[in-house]
Amino acid sequence: MPDLPVSELLDLDRRHVWHPYGPMPGRQEPLVVESASGVRLTIAGEPDELVDGMSSWWSAIHGYNHPVLNDAVRDQLGRMSHVMFGGLTHEPAVRLAKRLVDMSPEGLEHVFLADSGSVSVEVAVKMCLQYWRSLGRPRKQRLLTWRGGYHGDTWQPMSVCDPEGGMHELWQGVLPRQVFADPPPVAYEESYADHLRSLIERHADELAAVIVEPVVQGAGGMRFHSPGCLRVLREACDAYGVLLVFDEIATGFGRTGALFAADHAGVTPDVMCVGKALTGGYMTMAATLCTSRIAEGISRGEVPVLAHGPTFMGNPLAAAVACASIDLLLGQDWQTEIKRIETGLREGLAPASELPGVRDVRVLGAIGVVQLDHAIDMTAATRAAVREGVWLRPFRDLVYTMPPYVTGDADVARIARAVCAAAREG
Ligand SMILES: *Cc1c(COP(=O)(O)O)cnc(C)c1O
Repeated sequence: MPDLPVSELLDLDRRHVWHPYGPMPGRQEPLVVESASGVRLTIAGEPDELVDGMSSWWSAIHGYNHPVLNDAVRDQLGRMSHVMFGGLTHEPAVRLAKRLVDMSPEGLEHVFLADSGSVSVEVAVKMCLQYWRSLGRPRKQRLLTWRGGYHGDTWQPMSVCDPEGGMHELWQGVLPRQVFADPPPVAYEESYADHLRSLIERHADELAAVIVEPVVQGAGGMRFHSPGCLRVLREACDAYGVLLVFDEIATGFGRTGALFAADHAGVTPDVMCVGKALTGGYMTMAATLCTSRIAEGISRGEVPVLAHGPTFMGNPLAAAVACASIDLLLGQDWQTEIKRIETGLREGLAPASELPGVRDVRVLGAIGVVQLDHAIDMTAATRAAVREGVWLRPFRDLVYTMPPYVTGDADVARIARAVCAAAREG
């Protein structure tokens, strides 16, 4: 197949291809990526590669075109790329489930392999609602979350995203109406703990579960909060008979400096979602983990099965590369790498706090955020980052980065310079 000229490719893209949160036909001109290797993206028509500051939305933690991950896919491809998961099983899926159980917070025992993060959240919600239904409490079907969250783009996840100013504001009144707490404060406040407790108590009869992103709220605003809030949720959920779901789709696999953000608090949720970095950014796969209590509860019900089963459930290629990615992560001193990036981002982003229009600069683990006091000009900000040789994707009032863990110190410094440039010019 001959290569399309870039101009023709962009023209077809604009007319036919929908991009995330995009209009049709497209209005912006995306960059055309020809290949990616290590932490660098090769862009058509650009002489210099771009350093990737986004890890392809939290996922490519080991960088691109990694020899070990490539081998894992190739090896699995030679055996089978896919078989159905109903009535059949295979080693990659079983190995992956065992690894997830071993590395996740104590008590999470069972694994449902889903095909994307949003679907894993749907499954988590279904598990919780079905648990209560099985126990003869069908009225417990609402969810509680705190404002400022993001849990995906399908229906149930949308209903627990930030209801105001978020991506899904349009659907207020159509989506299931959930219970919202105030956004979690950065530092622990007893008055906020009381607010959570009283809200959970007041709605306990109708609440199936509390669902939150632990420690870091991602696409809902890139805000951090004290792990103490998670302990409050665990205690209140136990006290008032409500389940606790952690959405670790963005925070999982070391990003915040702990393997899972729940580990900062020493809390085990009843249900936990992982995705994004699960396959090292190679393929789409997510997972919903739960405790034995949840599984046994569901099994005691009138319909004693979890009625969910995606066509590509447990995809062997994705499972094989996920196992390889987890082994790569755990086989290295990942804490030191995350600390190194954290230090680099802290130093490199410090000058941003002096810039006009900057409201806040914050760093946690391998996540760096510059928040502005105005909506960003995405085109100008992206152009400024590209001029510094870096790929960033700012949104709303945020310029942020979560680089691959293999990003060297010089490239971390370059990413930080690009974040500052984007904040200045956006
Ligand atoms: C990205 C994300 C999701 C949705 O995952 P998809 O794979 O995009 O469906 C859900 N929750 C959180 C916290 C996320 O960051």
